Amino acid sequence: MTKSAAIAGQFGRSVLGNYTRAPVAFVRGRGSWLWDADGKKYLDFFPGFGAGALGHCHPAVVRAIRLQAGKLIHVQNLVMHPWQARLAGMLLRLAKMKGRAFFCNSGAEANEAAIKLARRYHQIVRGEMRSKIVCVTHGFHGRTMGALAATGTPAYHKGFAPMPRGFVHVPLNDLAAAKRAIDRKTAAFLVEPIQGEAGVRVADAMYLRALRAMTKAKGALLMFDEVQSGCGRTGEFLAAEAAGVHADVITLAKPLAGGLPMGAMLVHEKFSKALPAGSHGTTFGGSPLVCAAGIAAVTFASEPKNLARVRKMGLLFRSGLESLRLDYPDLIAEVRGRGLMLGLQLSVPGKDIATDCRNMRLLINCTHDTVLRTMPAMVVTPAEIRQALAILDRAFAAERTRRR
Ligand SMILES: *Cc1c(COP(=O)(O)O)cnc(C)c1O
Repeated sequence: MTKSAAIAGQFGRSVLGNYTRAPVAFVRGRGSWLWDADGKKYLDFFPGFGAGALGHCHPAVVRAIRLQAGKLIHVQNLVMHPWQARLAGMLLRLAKMKGRAFFCNSGAEANEAAIKLARRYHQIVRGEMRSKIVCVTHGFHGRTMGALAATGTPAYHKGFAPMPRGFVHVPLNDLAAAKRAIDRKTAAFLVEPIQGEAGVRVADAMYLRALRAMTKAKGALLMFDEVQSGCGRTGEFLAAEAAGVHADVITLAKPLAGGLPMGAMLVHEKFSKALPAGSHGTTFGGSPLVCAAGIAAVTFASEPKNLARVRKMGLLFRSGLESLRLDYPDLIAEVRGRGLMLGLQLSVPGKDIATDCRNMRLLINCTHDTVLRTMPAMVVTPAEIRQALAILDRAFAAERTRRR
């Protein structure tokens, strides 16, 4: 029996079965590469489900964690430490926002904070009963109850009734639907500038600009969930920069601390008073260890030459995916995304193709049945991109053979 199979046996007996896990166990990672328990090497084009934007065990992050672990790991949030303030300043500067940062431990928690802030701003600061949060169909915001209610895929709500009330969903890039939904009862509009889980669906720049104007006109907050699209993934620090739109609230997580669990909510000064002392909190949020990792990760991810590299590698990978589309027009309908957040819209289910890729030692993701999603590390090389494209080519050829 392989070591991976033995570990799979232990998982089967003792770990909750809430994921469809592939029968492979990893013990080491570096950059775009992972090694399994039996020493086999995999090319990871979906590192950490988006959390691995810097690649596995980025040396700057590893160094920061090692150094910080020996100094101070955690202190309570009723005192201060230097690293949280430093990271907050960095993120606000990068978001070009005059405002405040709140730190938590995940994307779901960042969105919970955003939802609570929007409602409390209206209900307490402005003294007006507004609760409606307008979200986008198939948008993904996390699995806690509030973030789940905001998530626009009904299948994820199933069996968890009653869902928190006050959430409505409108189709992406549908201006008329957004206009109908945003009214004087609306607390906020929450949207991903590029939907990840929904299948790498890009919000039009025009749409985001119109949302900015519509929310402003009705006194509602505009909130961008950049948990997946942010932190350099698209070749800009924030995906919304491409549209030149500034939200009132921005949520970040996934790669924010280079692989350690961290979420953040950035909020414009005007709305920051909505969560005063005692109104919200978390024990672990913004701890010294995670902030030190965050400072290292954000420093790397925001460096202009690294962002330029994301754009360059993104174009290289994209052009390879476009030629695959020309070679397999019967299987691939569209290439979508920006920078190193790229998806293939298939005209067939993608699960078997993703499994074939894994068997050929390439990790990618299949979402919403027919979309193959890739989010290679920012440190990905042209050779690694060529290797991934070659494996994808073989996987599509195998799929075509299966269909004959
Ligand atoms: C992954 C994701 C979340 C949830 O983040 P968790 O850390 O898993 O709670 C929220 N929003 C978006 C856009 C995501 O991709």
